[in-house]
Amino acid sequence: MAAQSMEELVALCKRRGFIFQASDIYGGLQGVYDYGPLGVELKNNLKAAWWRAMVYERDDVEGLDAAILTNRAVLKYSGHENTFSDPLVDCRNCKSRWRADHLQDSKCPSCGSTDLTEPRAFNLMFKTHIGPVEDEESIAYLRPETAQSTFVNFKNVLDSTSRRLPFGIAQIGKAFRNEITCRNFIFRVRELEQMELEYFVEPGSDEEWHSRWIEMRLDWWVRQGLSENNLKLEQHAKEALSHYSKATTDIMYRFPHGLEELEGIANRTDFDLGSHTRNQQDYDIQANVIENRESNSKLAIQDLATKQWIVPFVIEPAAGVDRGVLALMTEAYRIEELENGSKRTVLGLAPHLAPIKVAVLSLRRNVPEMVEKAKEIKRTLQSLGLGRILFEDTGNIGKGYRRHDEVGTPICVTVDFQTIQEDDTVTIRDRDSMTQERLPAAELSEYVRTYFRTG
Ligand code: ATP
Repeated sequence: MAAQSMEELVALCKRRGFIFQASDIYGGLQGVYDYGPLGVELKNNLKAAWWRAMVYERDDVEGLDAAILTNRAVLKYSGHENTFSDPLVDCRNCKSRWRADHLQDSKCPSCGSTDLTEPRAFNLMFKTHIGPVEDEESIAYLRPETAQSTFVNFKNVLDSTSRRLPFGIAQIGKAFRNEITCRNFIFRVRELEQMELEYFVEPGSDEEWHSRWIEMRLDWWVRQGLSENNLKLEQHAKEALSHYSKATTDIMYRFPHGLEELEGIANRTDFDLGSHTRNQQDYDIQANVIENRESNSKLAIQDLATKQWIVPFVIEPAAGVDRGVLALMTEAYRIEELENGSKRTVLGLAPHLAPIKVAVLSLRRNVPEMVEKAKEIKRTLQSLGLGRILFEDTGNIGKGYRRHDEVGTPICVTVDFQTIQEDDTVTIRDRDSMTQERLPAAELSEYVRTYFRTG
């Protein structure tokens, strides 16, 4: 059974070093979190799994890692300066601030008052200044989505790779949103990370590609370990669509606080490439030189047969890394009652996502031969390149197993007296079944390799 309350997860994250409140010793910074020793591994594993599926396992996608600081013009022509806002209301009674579309029965969630101001648009972008002078000319933004930096690189990628339609550009990176209220742990944060694919297609084939990507993305989340019962597709109503979207379907996940968006898959049409290209007076997409415009690039592709220029349509599967981490932890967390009446907490993460792949434990502390053997096994397994292998010499094996259950380590290997004095075999203990088996140390690498290939 998945985690029932956010408190359980928050406590585990802090206790075991997954996620901490940012700037904690100074009272924190609202809506900003740091990933600790295990959190960074889980997050990296999730991002690596996405990159594998989106870039390496496909033949039609290129990668990109663009800058966070963004020229103001990019976000002017993308529509974000005018429209990237949420409706803000103030409670006149307790002075708290809320997103109008998140209120229930038009009541202040804090004090219950209905004495609220009219909603006004609050732009979510973080503004900064480039250089020493803080004036209108020096304004820049921290990007609110990775997507725009992908669009403005469209021609660079196209010219350097000679891609034809359909093809995609994948990017993982930080984005910043000055959310009105941040609640529910890492579900809604001000500094977030996104995994976004911009998939460029021929106009007219966009609806079919949209459906395909919805299916592929849902299937991918199931392969990461999310149960189909906790996932749901939800189509946006026409009036709720973002300014750039013709149709959007969200992949919703049953988080501890309710069913909410994990990933959005939008049909962005030719809105973005088009508006970065059309920001000039004499717009003619077929002309080779476009005069009088702020951007110096035509974000279009030429049809080889007809020589006509096409502004591609874009299908965008956009997932949040932080929400992904929260969903995976929610799904994986379980408390089991054991036969002897005790309980154990298990984080049943899929092996490829587990922060620690194998823990190599020495049965006793301060037995040099045993420690040396365990370290040697750690080095051998580490060289397989599967991720983090941990050596531990804490001496209490029972406690060690429980601790590793709680952080999701799929396999523990224990080195004991039999290993060093008798037959060079070790104990392998499985997280989920708790079974233990003995195996010659020389066969460990093959065992672990096979486990992570099929596990
Ligand atoms: P919401 O409606 O929840 O504010 P959104 O529809 O504005 O989200 P998108 O602009 O579609 O979100 O962003 C793509 C993905 O980025 C979302 O599906 C989500 O996983 C993630 N994301 C967006 N905003 C946040 C945030 N403030 N904190 C964490 N993740 C976020």
